[in-house]
Amino acid sequence: MSVPPRVALVTGSSSGIGAAIARALHADGWRVALNGHRDADAGAALAAALPGATYVDADVSAPDDARRLVRETVDAHGRLDAVVNNAGIARRIPHDDLDAVDDAFWDLVMAVNLKGPWNVARAARPHLAAARGQIVMTGSIAGFTAAGSSIPYSVSKAGVLHLTRLLARALGPEIRVNAIAPGYIETPLTREWQPLREHVVAHAPARRLGVPEDVAGAVVGLMGMEYVTGAVLPVDGGLSLL
Ligand code: NAD
Repeated sequence: MSVPPRVALVTGSSSGIGAAIARALHADGWRVALNGHRDADAGAALAAALPGATYVDADVSAPDDARRLVRETVDAHGRLDAVVNNAGIARRIPHDDLDAVDDAFWDLVMAVNLKGPWNVARAARPHLAAARGQIVMTGSIAGFTAAGSSIPYSVSKAGVLHLTRLLARALGPEIRVNAIAPGYIETPLTREWQPLREHVVAHAPARRLGVPEDVAGAVVGLMGMEYVTGAVLPVDGGLSLL
């Protein structure tokens, strides 16, 4: 009897890091459920390129949409073994320019980056528990260094790292919960972020920019570590050591 493929839902996988994670999991034998918001064409195109994959447009910051995303994933694939909570937004705002941070941005970045993973985790919990599955969060080194694209973004990612630890404790032994913390990774989100790019190449121990495949490889590796839960793995070429 053949073993059914394990199913992974990757939020924010229509672009950048999430798309690379989806491709890497597919190459590792997973059945992949893709998600994004406002870039449905790219998400559908990637799903079409990965046999067995599906794409659902859903806003993870909205609890109803997060529940629908999980429901449609389980309806399509019959099970759910892993969630990669990767969807996120950012905007570059100098940390000392407090007036440049409008209230709407604070609310949006917390809703998408922090409440989104909570919404999806809560909706997915019964399915993940049944499968003795796992959650991986895309945090950021901005969540534990005094740096990052903006203060609200960094605070949202600090919340994601603590949410990781809290959920790991609350959801064991059925569900493992870990996080990766990327440094500077070249994606559509960050491509124009000068002079940070030069700083990374000149000073980070790895002396190069990160690419989405660097993060995807770390996620696949972390997902295979069965005795690891509540951990945060920096994937930053050593940038957070500076
Ligand atoms: P990206 O802009 O290329 O991709 C973002 C993805 O999130 C897209 O698929 C988009 O559709 C999706 N998304 C946005 N809002 C959403 C919502 N409300 N609901 C569902 N999906 C939504 O960005 P990226 O650089 O690939 O970033 C992916 C993740 O990695 C984010 O959480 C980001 O904070 C984190 N991260 C990125 C870097 C970096 O240097 N690029 C560094 C650290 C952490």
